[in-house]
Amino acid sequence: MSTRIGIMGYGNLGRGVEIAVKEAPDMELAAVFTRRAPESVSILTENVPVVNTADVKDWTDKIDVMIICGGSATDLPKQTPEYAKLFNVVDSFDTHARIPEHFANVDAAAKESGHIGMISVGWDPGMFSLNRVYANAILPDGKDYTFWGKGVSQGHSDAIRRIEGVRNAKQYTIPVESALEAVRSGSQPELTTRQKHTRECFVVLEEGADAARVEKEIKEMPNYFSDYDTTVHFISEEELEKNHAGMAHGGFVFRSGKTGVNKENSHIIEYSLKLDSNPEFTTSVLVAYARAVKRMYDEGQRGCKTVLDVAPAYLCSQSGEELRAHLL
Ligand code: NDP
Repeated sequence: MSTRIGIMGYGNLGRGVEIAVKEAPDMELAAVFTRRAPESVSILTENVPVVNTADVKDWTDKIDVMIICGGSATDLPKQTPEYAKLFNVVDSFDTHARIPEHFANVDAAAKESGHIGMISVGWDPGMFSLNRVYANAILPDGKDYTFWGKGVSQGHSDAIRRIEGVRNAKQYTIPVESALEAVRSGSQPELTTRQKHTRECFVVLEEGADAARVEKEIKEMPNYFSDYDTTVHFISEEELEKNHAGMAHGGFVFRSGKTGVNKENSHIIEYSLKLDSNPEFTTSVLVAYARAVKRMYDEGQRGCKTVLDVAPAYLCSQSGEELRAHLL
């Protein structure tokens, strides 16, 4: 029987899960849940109901795994523990500093109700975390590096939009090529924040706004921009829509380690992602982990889990025999 998936929240990730489930031979989409009026939300698939979250309790025996697609800032800290009481759940919680606290909340809810709550699935946290952990296990004497981009940072774009006189804005985080090369050389450089990434901003001004003041406010904004070399371009709304509407992202995770009696040998592990669509890639990861959740649940596992707790074979629809023959 195929795994019945529910989607909680229909934004970029909700839509991405819908697309990824269509590609999964062993899954079917049971329903999409939203806090909005269901008739105001149109989904891609025919004959799948859109249901208000007020009626979610009617679905506990019709869904094997609920993929929670709310935002990390305020939705997921509430939604994931709440729905772990009713379903096996997966989320993409990406506020790194608050993962221990989120884990504890979801663990308590999932253990009490006898479910699995898989948190912080995606690419960072997610695939990048896995690569950091594998690399640290293999090269205990070494140094980690993570670079993001080139890609849009939602948080930095929002911060610019809050400046007086700004109508709209997009901010790209860009890794510095010479820093990537220094890491690849095995020299284990010490890199400052400024040496690792630059920030490029495309800003649409309100009529009559003072461009010089806006640029100064952006470049001097503490935490967000003051520690980086930042470039600001002022463009029209049409240009922003035409050239900066995409959701591309990506990044690099490295471990540079040494082995040998005198640490004479260097090893570099590099994992990189170049994503045309951040949400569609993230949801492809979420769906693979939803498959693992169903298998782990059927085996009797309960409580909160992260990507670090999942055996790789559980992510694939193929059998162990097929994987050993073709992918090992
Ligand atoms: P969105 O803002 O698109 O969606 C979040 C929620 O907002 C939805 O679940 C939906 O809930 C509501 N919503 C969406 N569209 C509308 C609308 N038009 N009007 C009103 N409400 C709407 O966020 P994303 O899907 O892009 O991202 C979700 C989270 O995923 C991010 O906060 C980020 O932290 C995380 N993420 C994690 C990654 C990782 O690598 N771990 C990578 C990428 C993202 P409802 O239907 O109930 O209204």
